[in-house]
Amino acid sequence: MTNVIGTGDYSVTPQVLIRNVLVYGEGDPVDVLLGDEQILAIGSGLEAHTDAEVIDGAGQVLLPGFVDLHTHLREPGREDTETIDSGSAAAALGGYTAVFAMANTNPVADSVVVTDHVWRRGQEVGLVDVHPVGAVTVGLAGKQLAEMGTMAAGVGRVRMFSDDGHCVYDPLIMRRALEYAGTLGVLVAQHAEEPRLTVGAVAHEGPTAARLGLTGWPRAAEESIVA
Ligand SMILES: [Zn+2]
Repeated sequence: MTNVIGTGDYSVTPQVLIRNVLVYGEGDPVDVLLGDEQILAIGSGLEAHTDAEVIDGAGQVLLPGFVDLHTHLREPGREDTETIDSGSAAAALGGYTAVFAMANTNPVADSVVVTDHVWRRGQEVGLVDVHPVGAVTVGLAGKQLAEMGTMAAGVGRVRMFSDDGHCVYDPLIMRRALEYAGTLGVLVAQHAEEPRLTVGAVAHEGPTAARLGLTGWPRAAEESIVA
């Protein structure tokens, strides 16, 4: 049985043939023929071009590329800990085809200059798509809205905005951010933690924290921000 999913043109090269692999880990093992960045065919006993790279997929599971919505590639500014190059390589090795790089770089990714740079570097490295996450506020400081519109309109086409581990705790700024996000068709990812309720907190607030003398972290710190 052969199910043709792609173009049906088996003459394209180069080709990759994966033999006896479990698609989604289900059913019987099948062969998957790839070429021209497409799936040309899925079935059993597939023929491939004589120059095709053949991979033995026995015992392996074939899945679509993963997407990591929250990575720290540290570039620009902290290339001593991670780079777009090294982070892309790690992502590709783990089965990821796209990652979203958080905005807490140095300088912060709160301008189109930085977000476009991150996108371009990812394309130069060429292993996975590195989507820049734009900061919601300038410098992740929570005081002034970043220029979300220009970041969304850049070549990096920013589609997610976040202040990473910093909460956008000012309700007026968050409301404006959500209004802009709605107009631009983008997402805001919030770290839901009212910082004034969690100063020194190290444990969930409750009888156990009280008995141990630990400063409690109340539910309201998260729930008030979500509200
Ligand atoms: Zn983070």
